[in-house]
Amino acid sequence: MDYTEGVLIGGKWLPGSQGVFDVVDPATLTVIAQVANAGPDDAVAAVDAAHAAFPAWAATAPRARADLLMKTRDLMLRDAEELAGLISAENGKSLADARAEVGYAAEFFRWFAEEAVRPHGDYGSSPAGGTRTIVTHHPVGVAALVTPWNFPAAMATRKIAPALAAGCTVVLKPAAETPLTALAVARLMAEAGVPDGVVNVVPGEDAPAIVAAWTQDPRVRKLSFTGSTNVGRQLLRQAADRVVNTSMELGGNAPFVVTADADVDAAVEGAMIAKFRNGGQACTAANRFYVHASVAEEFTAKLGARVEALVVGPASEGSDIGPLISARARKNVERLVENAVATGAVVAHQAQPATAPGYFFTPVVLTRVTAQSEVVQEEVFAPVAPIVVWSDLEDLLTELNSSEYGLAAYVYAGDLGAALHLAERIEAGMVGINRGLVSDPSAPFGGVKQSGLGREGARAGLEEYTEMQYFSVAW
Ligand code: NAD
Repeated sequence: MDYTEGVLIGGKWLPGSQGVFDVVDPATLTVIAQVANAGPDDAVAAVDAAHAAFPAWAATAPRARADLLMKTRDLMLRDAEELAGLISAENGKSLADARAEVGYAAEFFRWFAEEAVRPHGDYGSSPAGGTRTIVTHHPVGVAALVTPWNFPAAMATRKIAPALAAGCTVVLKPAAETPLTALAVARLMAEAGVPDGVVNVVPGEDAPAIVAAWTQDPRVRKLSFTGSTNVGRQLLRQAADRVVNTSMELGGNAPFVVTADADVDAAVEGAMIAKFRNGGQACTAANRFYVHASVAEEFTAKLGARVEALVVGPASEGSDIGPLISARARKNVERLVENAVATGAVVAHQAQPATAPGYFFTPVVLTRVTAQSEVVQEEVFAPVAPIVVWSDLEDLLTELNSSEYGLAAYVYAGDLGAALHLAERIEAGMVGINRGLVSDPSAPFGGVKQSGLGREGARAGLEEYTEMQYFSVAW
């Protein structure tokens, strides 16, 4: 065990009211730190601090807020290697993925530092004449942020940066599997000069109790959640009692379509990113591949060769793919693959298994998968690439849109016009066209259907933390 971390409330590092909990490296199964285990009392104390800090922060000049965000970004880049090491240690992802995450996470501070100083509002005369309408935007207030373990840095900064840019103060509950990175980012924010109480971090094992303390607290005016659709539904129900402003970034089941005229090599390259980045544990991960019959054999062989060459193991050994986050996650994917095989799917290609003791799952390519199979219908969250062969475009669209999810999708096609035409008909908030990556701080990230409500990143990401007010002025 390396060290112990506290709860951050009002600029002070405090013990948790529920003792401590272990953070385990999922690649080695060793305890790497102990973290203060917060409970509902700590959650309320964090709101006390955020509420007290709110008036001064909201009144701070946008330029001054922007400077602090930019400074945080600089500090994240200064400490990029250390942060990447921490992400790999608590989440298990490869160092390459962890480094990419640090860059992506830091970029939210730059993007929202730039957005913080772009004033928005409106001024006009009413259609009937005689009055003027002035529209202004206020920070919504204390924002409760709840984040998952799969991107311990980026899921936190994608919320903290726009909240602070808008003038909100925050209370953050990182996932219990990966609290260390969020705490490290909070420490850098303090070093940058962000005032005490503006960012409060409440790690803890009892997520329902901590988050319920926030949804019940009238001082909390915003809930921004990233995680599973199931928990998102529960939190929407809780938020309904006080009509809390909510943003929900939930699960996905991204299709990856390869058309007959696609550049197959480019599609394979994109598939490796869309599927195997983060070991398949991304909400935007390609979950199901639909490959046109005329290129299915070539695509499968080329993707298979790449998958067989993947090195699976601990990040510290320079692997391409780390472990899954938990024994439960591994059991779930083993079940999905076993069920697929029992109903006729074939494990066509497989990487070499890891030799380390962690929660490793060996990446596989499955063929002869039916569109109705569980491995296609459920969010797999693991390095499994099920391939369904298609030939009729309308049938394909029916299958693509049959999911309750609508987060990301990918289309590889030679004819860009046809690709755009297809993309417009896919029910997804984001479509990568001849690209295997859609995440970009300057673009509106989010889903339709049961993948969520609201957007993160882009200008829209800041608006999630503001409320409009208008003045009707007799003229
Ligand atoms: P999760 O829903 O189990 O947990 C997410 C967060 O909610 C964690 O902080 C957890 O402690 C907390 N939580 C869990 N149960 C809770 C409850 N009953 N009440 C209050 N809080 C609770 O999700 P996860 O397993 O950590 O993350 C994986 C999921 O997140 C996947 O479904 C993935 O698609 C989704 N995700 C979505 C996005 C997106 O932007 N749309 C990004 C990353 C991950």
